[in-house]
Amino acid sequence: MGFVDRYITALSASSLQDDERHCQAEPLLASALASTSAGDLGALLHRAKYAGTATQNMAHAVAMRDLVEKALVHAIRKKDANREADCRQALQGDAIVLESGVLLLARLLALWTAEVMKRGRARRWVPENTAWDAEAAIKLYRTVAENSLAYWLNGLCDPCGGTGVAEARACKCCAGSGKAPLVMAAGFVREHTLNMVSELHSIADSHATRAGAKLRALAN
Ligand SMILES: [Zn+2]
Repeated sequence: MGFVDRYITALSASSLQDDERHCQAEPLLASALASTSAGDLGALLHRAKYAGTATQNMAHAVAMRDLVEKALVHAIRKKDANREADCRQALQGDAIVLESGVLLLARLLALWTAEVMKRGRARRWVPENTAWDAEAAIKLYRTVAENSLAYWLNGLCDPCGGTGVAEARACKCCAGSGKAPLVMAAGFVREHTLNMVSELHSIADSHATRAGAKLRALAN
């Protein structure tokens, strides 16, 4: 079972009650511990995509905070400096963690827009020599950021619900891919958007890899 599956299972667990032997919530803890900064994009992406409704987010966020605090106490007691640093890092991200789902998305979009801007500039998508250019460029970065994030979060084919199967055969709408078509006029905006969608995938994937490693460490 990959990390994302474990993360989703943990989120759907009826209770986050943690006991030393049987910790259903470990994937959530691992995800928090794998954050590399307070506003870690990968961790936020996982939370936004897989964590369900805003109310659930809140309940989990509060339970999460308790877990991390417990883990911190444990790490200090065991003199495990690395784990202690991870926990402190995760608690620092608390301000973000405790926000509602809507605020989470707003925060995520702001971070992602800044990231798209950085990448777009580095790759010289458009010239920014004049004020008019610069304004048009910012509009482009925003459009690409919004569309790529929305598509990454929920780009599933409607008729088959993302399974790729309808009426016991490959879904006609998506040809079995499970992905919705990206509804955007063809052209370079669409192309940049698709590129950014695949970069979101790789950011989320590397977060899953880091979190998977933390999870294995927790099991030891
Ligand atoms: Zn389909």
